Amino acid sequence: MAEAPARERDRQRDHAPTIPETPPSAARKTSGPARALERLHLTRDIDLALHLPLRYEDETRLTRIADAHDGDTVQVEGTVADARIEYRPRRQLVARLDDGSGTLVLRFLNFYPSHQKTLARGARVRVRGELRGGFLGREMVHPTFKAVQVDAPLAAALTPVYPTVAQLPQTYLRKAIASALTRAPLHEVLPVGAVPRGLPSLREALMTLHQPSADASMTALQDHAHPAWQRLKFEELLAQQLSQHEARRERAALRAPQLRAAAGGLHERLLSALPFQLTRAQRRVGDEIAADLAQARPMHRLLQGDVGSGKTVVAALAAAVAIDAGWQCALMAPTEILAEQHFRKLVSWLEPLGVGMAWLTGSRKGKARAQMVERVAGGEARLVIGTHAVIQDDVRFARLGLAVIDEQHRFGVQQRLQLRRKLALQGVEPHLLMMSATPIPRTLAMSYFADLDVSTLDELPPGRQPVLTKLFADTRRDEVVARIRDEIGNGRQVYWVCPLIEESAKLDLQNATETHRMLCEALPQQMVGLLHGRMPAGEKAAVMSLFTGGQMPLLVATTVIEVGVDVPNANIMVIEHAERFGLAQLHQLRGRVGRGSRESFCMLLFKSPLGESARQRLEMMEKTEDGFKIAEKDLELRGGGEVMGARQSGMPEFRIAEVPAFAELLAASRDDAKLVLGQDPQLASPRGEALRLLLYLFECDEAVRLFRAA
Ligand code: ADP
Ligand code: MG
Repeated sequence: MAEAPARERDRQRDHAPTIPETPPSAARKTSGPARALERLHLTRDIDLALHLPLRYEDETRLTRIADAHDGDTVQVEGTVADARIEYRPRRQLVARLDDGSGTLVLRFLNFYPSHQKTLARGARVRVRGELRGGFLGREMVHPTFKAVQVDAPLAAALTPVYPTVAQLPQTYLRKAIASALTRAPLHEVLPVGAVPRGLPSLREALMTLHQPSADASMTALQDHAHPAWQRLKFEELLAQQLSQHEARRERAALRAPQLRAAAGGLHERLLSALPFQLTRAQRRVGDEIAADLAQARPMHRLLQGDVGSGKTVVAALAAAVAIDAGWQCALMAPTEILAEQHFRKLVSWLEPLGVGMAWLTGSRKGKARAQMVERVAGGEARLVIGTHAVIQDDVRFARLGLAVIDEQHRFGVQQRLQLRRKLALQGVEPHLLMMSATPIPRTLAMSYFADLDVSTLDELPPGRQPVLTKLFADTRRDEVVARIRDEIGNGRQVYWVCPLIEESAKLDLQNATETHRMLCEALPQQMVGLLHGRMPAGEKAAVMSLFTGGQMPLLVATTVIEVGVDVPNANIMVIEHAERFGLAQLHQLRGRVGRGSRESFCMLLFKSPLGESARQRLEMMEKTEDGFKIAEKDLELRGGGEVMGARQSGMPEFRIAEVPAFAELLAASRDDAKLVLGQDPQLASPRGEALRLLLYLFECDEAVRLFRAA
């Protein structure tokens, strides 16, 4: 029982290396393992030392064939009793291995002449793979193997398997890491007594993880429960704490414009022009923000609120305060679709009140762009909306008083850094409001986000419809199609979402286009749209506007629609391969429906059989719509391998520490951070220098630099 999930997790880990490859646009033709190392940013000894194994292979012992059980991954050794090429059902190499205790078939569906040479009859080989009870007896399919002499020594340590890319073979990576470990500067940086009891030194921890002895517990290592892992998690949390303290200290020294709404000004007029009453939560949060804006130090606030809780209007009201006070406001969204939605909505609210607006995205080029940039620089554009195009180098604000970032976690570190630089260009710092639809559990908010004030919209606007959620095995696809045919007949609109597999943009497209074709055939009378991330922006906008306008009843989309899209008449969502999505992402997606006055449905299509954690995720979706409950379950389920979308869920990303398990370590790291800073507030001593290295290692330095005027 404990066996299966562990294996599922391993598989996920293997398929989802946590190290992103260089995006295709930036990728030059690289070749050779050395270039691959560079691309993975494994250039220095210390980088290699911190490149940790995904799992291990046990080559420290041999199992007798007679003693091995089906399903076990084992290493056996024997002589090839027979080897031949068979042609049925397809061409394959089949060898029979005999170790005296029993025999075993080795089967290769792809093979080279070198396979045949090593596996010639009479050869002595050592073989490692998963044993299966095949139709014609026990076998291993595509085992690893090598020729050996009698009594060749076994491995002394478990063999690490690292996250890597195609051009970088494990053997090369292993050697590079082993050699880096002999040189890497792994000094203890913590004061005596500060390392939590029972945890090894940094050097010991790394040696254990890279070269665990034959008797180390493979389960503890692979589940990250081993004290060596604990030590590294602790290190990361500590680094995080220190960077937070430093960020707060630096921010305290900055000056910001004091922004107040004018009596009878834009803020008041917007309030009375809105087509609805604010919820209590919106009023409260609005007050919190207004109080920050009136201060002479820059606001640094996160506004969190479940999908549909009405964050946009809160942002618009904050913008109105800034504009009232004679300053500009910038609103940035992570995707063009979302930016456009904001733009439309805010134009409809603010333009009638005489506010000058500008619109900047990547697809707006040439003269149109130059004109916008000029309006921003000249100050006529009071509210500037767009994607990260808003912070390109040539965009200069006359008087930027407030920056609002929607779905802030979707912006990369580079973009956040760029924003920071832009903001720091002026003599005074603008206020910063970040918005996120993923609720952050309190413990996390207080630790990881120690440098952030948090406002929460804990109430949905009235009239929101519940979304009835149901699971369907994909063998019942026809039923789902029949159902949406009926609903469309009744004037409803439907989203059909296909997953985005990060490693394979090609496959995504195929997924979405094939589903699109299938639905076009199934619903020949209807306009069925297709929307995916690689379409030109103009085409995307055209499709979106047909859907928003109601002419297009069915939209097949990849997760580009995940954030923020607001089409109240769409009240059905089908999610394809729902098992591949993380909980937070499913919740975000589902938030697109239930916005109108009619009953709403979410149908989760899954491919059976479901793994244990996927089953729990999907059942959670059936059970509740409460974003906080879902976020907590998400934390709980996200122990091992990374689920798709987890990285976008808005949770802090730790490289090593795993969120659910760290409460105790977190408390210790908080105490230690205080201790360290008490002795050396500027981290100027040699020990402080070493700690700075830590910040670098865990990429926290980015966070620190965010707050350092570049
Ligand atoms: P999110 O928090 O997910 O960004 P939005 O700001 O897009 O949510 O709001 C969702 C929908 O609810 C929008 O159509 C918005 O105009 C509407 N809305 C926001 N606040 C209220 C309110 N107080 N009463 C009624 N509708 C509201
Ligand atoms: Mg939104």
